Amino acid sequence: MRKLLRLLGIAQGNCLNCEKPALGEEFLCEDCLKELKPQHPMEYTHIPYVFSHRVFGRYEGAIKSLILNTKFENNPYTARFLGKAVKDYLWEYINEIQPDIITFPELNLRRLWLRGFNQVEEILKGADVPYQRIFERKGFDPPMARLGSQERLKAVQSHQVRKHWLHALEDKKILVVDDVLTTGQTISHLCQLLLSLGAKETHAFFIARSV
Ligand SMILES: [Zn+2]
Repeated sequence: MRKLLRLLGIAQGNCLNCEKPALGEEFLCEDCLKELKPQHPMEYTHIPYVFSHRVFGRYEGAIKSLILNTKFENNPYTARFLGKAVKDYLWEYINEIQPDIITFPELNLRRLWLRGFNQVEEILKGADVPYQRIFERKGFDPPMARLGSQERLKAVQSHQVRKHWLHALEDKKILVVDDVLTTGQTISHLCQLLLSLGAKETHAFFIARSV
């Protein structure tokens, strides 16, 4: 029902970020749409096991509103919209590093069932980026926010590489795309896993970095 109301809200055309009238079929008003630009220069800190990474923007304003809408209203269309917004910047990076494989972290099964889709997959579809699903998750982790740091680490480590990819990563340059960069613990673990399976280089792209 909430989803339906949100869809009706979209039909009425209010900006998801500031409630002002949105542009035509868009999710944002003109001002918030202008916010959706790559923010650089941005200071970068090294993430262990990640050769290079790129971030589109900060987790605030319009970007945050779109990501929250995707996650909590279970709306894949805002993720596609975000994908379109980051498309040029993401492709610039893809052309620069020339990855053999582009992939993304998997949701734990419970969250995937609740949401019905993986938001990063929808973002990649919106950006017309071809991807492979090389990871899988085992078990049902509680939500990350409720976990202590040790438990959080265990949840991160529940990521595995799918069986048929185990011997297909050797000498490959891999780009992992994720929505929000916070501690970097997840991406670091995933890249360590890929390197341990023979990957040549690991790179990462994030839609937003928490501020
Ligand atoms: Zn707005």
